[in-house]
Amino acid sequence: SSEQSGVRHVSSLFPALRGAPAGRAALRFGDRALTYGSLASAAGALAARIGGAGAVAVWATPSLETAVAVTAALEAGVAAVPLNPRSGEKELGHILADCAPDAVLAAPGDELPDALAGLARVDVDVRDGGPLPAPRSADEDPALIVYTSGTTGPPKGAVIPRRAVAHTLDALADAWRWTGDDVLVHGLPLFHVHGLVLGVLGPLRRGGSVRHLGRFSPEGVARALDEGATMLFGVPTMYHRIAQALPADPGLARSLGGARLLVSGSAALPVHDHERITAATGRRVVERYGMTETLMNTSVRADGEPRAGTVGVPLPGVELRLVEEDGTPLAAYDGESVGEIQVRGPNLFTGYLNLPDATRAAFTPDGWFRTGDMAVRDPDGYVRIVGRKATDLIKSGGYKIGAGEIENALLEHPGVREAAVTGEPDADLGERIVAWVVPADPQAPPSAEELADHVAARLAPHKRPRRVHHLDALPRNDMGKIMKRALTA
Ligand code: ATP
Ligand code: MG
Repeated sequence: SSEQSGVRHVSSLFPALRGAPAGRAALRFGDRALTYGSLASAAGALAARIGGAGAVAVWATPSLETAVAVTAALEAGVAAVPLNPRSGEKELGHILADCAPDAVLAAPGDELPDALAGLARVDVDVRDGGPLPAPRSADEDPALIVYTSGTTGPPKGAVIPRRAVAHTLDALADAWRWTGDDVLVHGLPLFHVHGLVLGVLGPLRRGGSVRHLGRFSPEGVARALDEGATMLFGVPTMYHRIAQALPADPGLARSLGGARLLVSGSAALPVHDHERITAATGRRVVERYGMTETLMNTSVRADGEPRAGTVGVPLPGVELRLVEEDGTPLAAYDGESVGEIQVRGPNLFTGYLNLPDATRAAFTPDGWFRTGDMAVRDPDGYVRIVGRKATDLIKSGGYKIGAGEIENALLEHPGVREAAVTGEPDADLGERIVAWVVPADPQAPPSAEELADHVAARLAPHKRPRRVHHLDALPRNDMGKIMKRALTA
């Protein structure tokens, strides 16, 4: 790395702030927009106001102000900590005590909760103007502190260096043929890697533009694509809504058919939704796999063969291996043997803030990051995620069964709208498979026997759920991820 070689490589993450024509489109949120010229000027003015800070919190509403705040922090060499405006007081209190920012950046009208009352407030004025400061941050300096989604436990602050942001965005540009001519449609929140790093910093690093919908809707996506957008980034719940809307909306199918690239990530895209979208639009959704700690690890490539149910191949510069429980790497990719994904490369974070033990435990002695995600690899290297080690791997009757394939099978049943699968202790089997199902018609939910037969016929008899619970909705976090620890009968 640059630290080891003693060379501090100093540069801006966004060459287009200085190099692009001033009138070029950069950001659009609803009907408010900034060109590269006005973004550079607003970010320059704000950078001057926060220049001496160590870290700043950003009240990360989906707004121009959030995009300007993070851009300014990165130009000023100040670590930005995006806050989820929907977090409770307790979670915000935990985060602020953990990272101790010098100020919170917010839009002028934003009402901030009491947990932020002790912090200096800096209102972001997107019409302000000033010169950008000379770049002074080195590759290994922290760019962002992003708290993990909290799917499996309390959120941890991942310290993400500038090097990782630059690397992951450039690797995605290679995989997706992503250029400054691309216009991204965006409907995700801005306090996680997906919406902030990929969705805002990504277009700005390429010199392209982003159009944020404020609130996701299939119609909003269609309108943006019709008006010239080329790519869509979404989470599986968004593609599910698109898949549901397609049969009654030929215009939506036409709009999506015209997109250059549809990308899904943050959780597994159900095969059923993938196939329905392909059937209606002729387009395949490209899946990529990443984490707060590693940014992006793998993706189906724009020029690669898409394969439903896989997250593609390692991105350029990323090393990936599957290991057995004792840490031995799997000998071959046979499309069947399950191992934990470990990754190594310039995309990795530097550690969890204030958690040296958790950081140490997350890495092998030779620097591989233990993702906690389980996968198989096809002989040609495509990665198929089976699920999380902690919640998605069910040990039943001597088999190791991934929750994901059972969920995919359940979703193919016409009576099932949403499904999650867990394991629970069983005297005979070790663990038994439990299905949590949101029925398509609450008045006529499919019976447990019917679903068991459906899974047994598609997969194998030992993969059938032994118990089925019906729910009105699955517990999901703000990214639409299923919170399995909240599934209790
Ligand atoms: P926490 O670490 O706090 O429990 P989290 O792991 O959900 O929460 P993130 O860093 O936002 O927090 O999410 C990373 C995880 O999301 C990955 O470890 C993986 O389990 C899942 N994931 C991301 N992309 C995909 C994908 N394409 N397919 C399947 N799983 C995915
Ligand atoms: Mg995690």
